[in-house]
Order: sequence, then structure tokens, then C-alpha cells
Amino acid sequence: MYRANEDYLKLPGSYLFSTIAKKVSAFQAENPDKKIIRLGIGDVTLPLCPAVIEALHKAVDEQADPATFRGYAPDLGYEFLRHAMAENDFRARGCDIADDEIFISDGAKSDSANIQEIFTKNTKLAVCDPVYPVYVDSNVMAGRCGDYDAETGMWSNVIYMPCTAENGFAPELPSETPDIIYLCFPNNPTGSAITKDQLQVWVDYANKVGAVIIFDAAYEAYISEDNVPHSVFECEGARTCAIELRSFSKNAGFTGLRLGATIIPHDLKVKQDGEEVELHRLWARRHGTKYNGAPYIVQRAGEACYSEAGKAQIKEMVGTYMKNASYILNGLKDAGYQAFGGVNSPYVWLRTPDNMTSWEFFDHLLTKANVVGTPGSGFGPSGEHYFRLTAFGSYENSVEALDRIRAL
Ligand code: PLP
Repeated sequence: MYRANEDYLKLPGSYLFSTIAKKVSAFQAENPDKKIIRLGIGDVTLPLCPAVIEALHKAVDEQADPATFRGYAPDLGYEFLRHAMAENDFRARGCDIADDEIFISDGAKSDSANIQEIFTKNTKLAVCDPVYPVYVDSNVMAGRCGDYDAETGMWSNVIYMPCTAENGFAPELPSETPDIIYLCFPNNPTGSAITKDQLQVWVDYANKVGAVIIFDAAYEAYISEDNVPHSVFECEGARTCAIELRSFSKNAGFTGLRLGATIIPHDLKVKQDGEEVELHRLWARRHGTKYNGAPYIVQRAGEACYSEAGKAQIKEMVGTYMKNASYILNGLKDAGYQAFGGVNSPYVWLRTPDNMTSWEFFDHLLTKANVVGTPGSGFGPSGEHYFRLTAFGSYENSVEALDRIRAL
């Protein structure tokens, strides 16, 4: 008789977004006349920019012609996109990254979940708390995280690094030494960023203890401050200790199109059983075996993000969301809330008033202001008493939501 994977069975149900959806639809059913504003969504709402649409149409037409038809894409990505990314995202910022160190994929979610496969089972991970849940859940599925404690919401074999207002939402170096360290800045959910000097401390630490940093740069396009790094490879020594995850989802609105990349430098290698092992080789092997490449038309769309027109249009799109973020952040502060993020990120993170739990504040906001956000406790125990609002709605809705919150 077959058995299901026990490691999967250990995962507690992910109730966050389904509970939110249930509560919102129950409230709407009871109050059909109320206009609910949703600032909980983590998905973009603006359409793809014209340069991307044009590239998509052109690539689709190529697929209709036997002379230009493309079948399977190279599993590590087309050269034209790897080159455009290496040039624009890395070398233009002074990061020493070669085209062949970029692996094109269908997005950062799958890469952030799959990257753990190239590490030995006995790997200890460190994560920020609160955190994007995929890092821990994917390691639980691989049998690495020990046992779940429903009381604390923590796994016994994971190092949690609290990020709260008290430490400026920047994790401190852990007292126990990890093997892999997941860092995401600008951060989801806290909306905070760290400076290049702060990230350099992590790179030096990882090189010293022999750990690998998995740096999730999904929100780098939202950075507005000069001292905030867009890539971990801006730090000295990162080539020997870091992997970076990139996404076109929030940067260019590709959440439905699907495109991302993982960057693994050739210098990231470990001495093992008398042999020097390059992680680049392992990830290439993984891609070759388990992935058949992002679609040609989507990679052409990705390339268009780096044209002059594409860059300008994407900047405008990000600017639209950041106008909302700034309005939400300042509106909350004016209303007396402690609010954070929103400067280098589309997320605003606020401390709940009157020491309400995150879920109490969710209910309060839904029933009194008809505004939906995301309870911070859903992202980890240190998210309790915090709440996330996103800038991905329309400007009009952001303004109206803030008017209602102010009136509470
Ligand atoms: N990483 C973080 C921190 C995210 O918040 C998200 C999406 O919300 C992703 C990765 C997923 O990105 P993608 O759409 O490229 O899979």
C-alpha cells in the first residue's frame, strides 16, 4: 500500500488568504450595500506596458511562421534575455555577473521553493520573521524543519530572526550558525529595506561561517533610496556566498505571464569529500532534468523590459503604485498610526492600535471601514500586532480607504 509523503503531512493548512476571503464574502453577503476596498492583495492591477505587449505580439507572429517558429526553449534561458539581464540588472550597477550565471525561470516563487534541493538534507536554515512563507514551507516538504509547534507557530529546526519595529525590521546575526540564510529586501510583508552597509555585514558573515545567502530581490524596482542595494552582488564578496532570485512579477507586472531568474555565480563552491563543488553546476543539472524553459514569447516580453521604451514605461508603472504607497503611509501616520515601509516597497506595514491582535484589527477594519488588509500574524509570530496594506490598488481606492480609516 502506498503512503503519502509524511513531510507534506506535517505542513499546517495555509489559512491566511482563505480565511480572509471567507470573512470578506460573509461580510459582503450580510452588507450588500457596502463598498469594500481591498488593500490586501499582493497582485498587480495595472496592465502590461506597451513595449511588452508589442514584443509579445511580434513573438506570437514569429511562432506562426515556419522560418521563425521556436519549440523548446534552452532550459537555462535564451541568450538574448540572459544577456539583457546581466547587462542591465547587474553590470550596469557594477555587479560582476556573467550572462551564463543567470538561469531564466517561470518566476521567483518556484525558484525560491526549489533552490533548497541543491543543498544536503541536513541543512539548517535561517529566516526572517515575519517572512514570505514559501522559504520555510518548501524546506518542510523536503523534511528539513523538524516539528511544528502550533502554539508558537515555529518549526523546531529553523532559526527565526525577528524583524520588528524595535530592530528597524532588519534581522540581527543569529546566535546559532545557519547553513542557508533567506533574505528578502525590500521585504514582503514589512515593506522595509536594508542599506548596502547592512547587507555587507550579512555577506561578510556568510563568507566567515560558510553559509549561503539566498537573496530574494523580487521588489528591487521599488527602491527609491540611493543607499539601498538592488542586488546582493553590489556587496563585496557576494560571489562566493550568495544566490539571487529575480522576478518580473512586481517589477513589470508579469504575475500572469510568469518570468523570473536565479543568479548563481561560478565562484559559489564548496569543498566536499575532496572535491570542489560548484552550486551553479547543480542548479544547471536541476534545470536540465526538471524544467523545459520559460516560453519564447514570454522571454521576448522580458527582453522588452530592458529597451529604452520598456524601462521608461515600467518606471511609470512602479511610480503609480509608489504614489499609492506614499499616500497610504503618510495618511496612516497623520491618523496617528505607527506605519512603516512604503518608501522602497509597495507594502505598508502598520502596528495595530490599542494592542489589538492582527486578526482583531482585520475585523475592526473590515466591519467599521470596509477596508481589507492582511493580518501580520499570518506571516509569522513576530508579525502579530502588525498589519499589511498594499499599494497595488487604484489611487482613488487608496485615498478613499485612508479617508475611512481616518474617520474611525
Ligand atoms: N518572493 C516574494 C518575497 C514575493 O512576495 C513573491 C510574490 O508575492 C514572490 C517571490 C513570487 O514571485 P513570482 O511571481 O515571480 O513567482
